[in-house]
Amino acid sequence: MPENGLSHPSAVAYPTTPEEVAILVRAAGACGLAVVSRSGGHNYAGFSSGAFGGEIADKRHTNGENDRFEKEQSAMQGEGNGVLVIDLSSFNNIKFDEATGDGTEIVTIGAGCRLGRVATVLAEKGRALPHGVCPTVSIGGHAAHGGHGLSSRKWGLTMDRIVSHEVVLSDGTISNVPVSSSSKEGQADLGPLSWALRGAGPSFGVITSYTLRTFPMPPVAVHFDYWFSPVGASLAADAMIAYQDWIPWVPGEIGLAFMFMTGEGDGTIQYKLTGQYLGPRVALDAIVSPFLKTLQRLGISVTTESKTQEFPPDLRGFNVGQNDQTEGPIWSSDSFYAKSLAIFDKKEDLLTREQALALTSYLKADPSLRKTVWFVMLDNWGGVDSAISSVPSQNTASNTRENLYAFQMFVRPEDRRPPFTSDGVQFLKGMCDAIINARRDLSTWRYGGVANYVDPELSREEAQQMYYGKEKLVKLREVKRRFDPGNVFRYPHSILPA
Ligand SMILES: Cc1cc2nc3c(=O)[nH]c(=O)nc-3n(C[C@H](O)[C@H](O)[C@H](O)COP(=O)(O)OP(=O)(O)OC[C@H]3O[C@@H](n4cnc5c(N)ncnc54)[C@H](O)[C@@H]3O)c2cc1C
Repeated sequence: MPENGLSHPSAVAYPTTPEEVAILVRAAGACGLAVVSRSGGHNYAGFSSGAFGGEIADKRHTNGENDRFEKEQSAMQGEGNGVLVIDLSSFNNIKFDEATGDGTEIVTIGAGCRLGRVATVLAEKGRALPHGVCPTVSIGGHAAHGGHGLSSRKWGLTMDRIVSHEVVLSDGTISNVPVSSSSKEGQADLGPLSWALRGAGPSFGVITSYTLRTFPMPPVAVHFDYWFSPVGASLAADAMIAYQDWIPWVPGEIGLAFMFMTGEGDGTIQYKLTGQYLGPRVALDAIVSPFLKTLQRLGISVTTESKTQEFPPDLRGFNVGQNDQTEGPIWSSDSFYAKSLAIFDKKEDLLTREQALALTSYLKADPSLRKTVWFVMLDNWGGVDSAISSVPSQNTASNTRENLYAFQMFVRPEDRRPPFTSDGVQFLKGMCDAIINARRDLSTWRYGGVANYVDPELSREEAQQMYYGKEKLVKLREVKRRFDPGNVFRYPHSILPA
């Protein structure tokens, strides 16, 4: 769980059944406590531990609209910050639907299940799902905001595989919310709720389990790393633009990121191309070759490369070594700050070379940064063959289907211990500002963010604009008014009722 020193919920409950969750939600609603769910506790901002309380971010970024909830909450605070954390770690069952197909296609997974365990149990049946690479992240929060991993360009986001959710709503009802719901007479139309749960889940209920449609495991996968010769800011910017030009055309079987980090020599930036290919090694070489040739023409060469081929593939990605922490308490902690900035797949919204150069110049400018552990990752999401962008954006609440790629910027102290210094926060803000401020047409430039890489420095309005966009936000607030009119599920970035 990310530590930020601000976490002090009023109570943490450890239910074991949906019925117990329902009792807790009703009780919290009656007492005026905010309810937040915690599945794997990996939220970057600690929102799942009640960090910042339900609404403190709005006190920093007041727009007047939330006064009602702030007053209500302060009145009820007493001990703690007015937040009930519902911990779902006991919801860790994985059950295959034996009546469908050969009994391995449809699976119901408890919200508290960690991704490492999901991958392991599914692999034993020869099945797999698209999801992120950290084995201790739980599916609860991961799928509620999307869930992006190395196989996502082939198979979509984790949420794209959801058949139905079991969710406890604000009035304490336990509801089965299918993804495609055609409401029968006398039944509530759950279509809008299903839409909202896929991208903005934490604002609408406590999801106790997901039922998902799995894929057969592919016969082979290759994990790869290509390290390049360190270069200065100008060539690093050229390399970034070459990556942007190349990735729209790569096949869906490849999941990849271009990763920049501090170099060994003065003023140099080190970087690598890293990822996973769902196919044989020889085919990977042919796919990567055009990009390597472009870099060669720029004078950038590959210094080392590693390719690990697996039969059958271990879809746990790069973190295989940590996979033993798939159950039980996790005693390690981390102290870091991260930001995201998504580049949309529209010609007019792509990164300009000026922006790339502003970023790489910023990264090489301060030699003291070499003492900090930082990286910038450009995760590929879209492109012509991407399963993520093949789903119409309006089908789910988040706007990430518009991403061609997303920057993830990350910094941590060397010892990984709190307190996190404001220097680190300023450093990352500087990275993001370098990209944004170098944009000439800033007033019309569209960009987004990744809700699973939540940034506590953003106000509610800024975060929602980046994660959902204006139009979807209007609809989300309508759905919130219908399913959580009393704003029981609230935290600094949550959707407010219309
Ligand atoms: C080391 C690390 C690596 C990561 N790698 C990736 C990656 O490769 N790809 C990627 O997409 N993301 C990645 N993430 C981000 C991760 O997907 C998100 O932080 C995710 O939301 C964590 O889910 P959780 O259940 O573990 O965390 P939690 O902190 O428990 O939950 C995260 C958020 O979801 C809400 N929530 C949790 N459970 C539920 C529920 N059952 N019902 C409703 N709301 C719920 C919480 O209230 C909170 O707002 C990574 C994070 C870390 C720390």
